[in-house]
Amino acid sequence: MNLVLLGPPGAGKGTQAKSIATEYNIPHISTGDIFRKNIAEETPLGKKAKEYIDQGLLVPDQLTIDIVKDRLSEDDCKKGFLLDGFPRTVFQAEALDKMLQEDGKKIDVALLIEVPREDILKRMTGRRVCVSCGASYHVSFNPTKVEGICDVCGKEVIQRKDDKEDTVKERLNVYDKQTQPLISYYKECDKLSEVDGTQAIDKVFEDIKSLLGETN
Ligand SMILES: [Zn+2]
Repeated sequence: MNLVLLGPPGAGKGTQAKSIATEYNIPHISTGDIFRKNIAEETPLGKKAKEYIDQGLLVPDQLTIDIVKDRLSEDDCKKGFLLDGFPRTVFQAEALDKMLQEDGKKIDVALLIEVPREDILKRMTGRRVCVSCGASYHVSFNPTKVEGICDVCGKEVIQRKDDKEDTVKERLNVYDKQTQPLISYYKECDKLSEVDGTQAIDKVFEDIKSLLGETN
């Protein structure tokens, strides 16, 4: 089963990706991870990518496509794969379809974990982390016993810059702009399946399983 995972930041994609990979025995391919691996191993593709990243530039589409193509050619992808963080653009989605087609393969499902914007904001801006031990909390869902103080070590808990409202809003704007065309693309190919990501983690996974079950 060849899957693409879509969803806004803070929708719980990482958690669901792990469960899907285990359940269906397919590798979870996160583009962040394969970039880091190529760079750490100083592969030719990794070296090229590093040049862009070091200059604070975006890695060009074609280079990203080459890195994904290289990863998909590995043996563990023969039975299928779950792509996370790729494709990000319609251009990349078309390139992905093309490269799979060359091997007589295709994307079976583009799975969208849908969570409304207000919920994402609440989830992400409520996060707190301990400055000392790294324990994580949430002001509504998993608060510290004493406000602002870590339960584990007694040090201060703070809101990370990434979790501040303006930063989260900006990330969501970027996500919407990039992902809406991608969602339309998969809808037009009749490959888009949506799950309600506002439910409990286990329930979301149950929904994913019944969706994927139908496509097998
Ligand atoms: Zn702590």
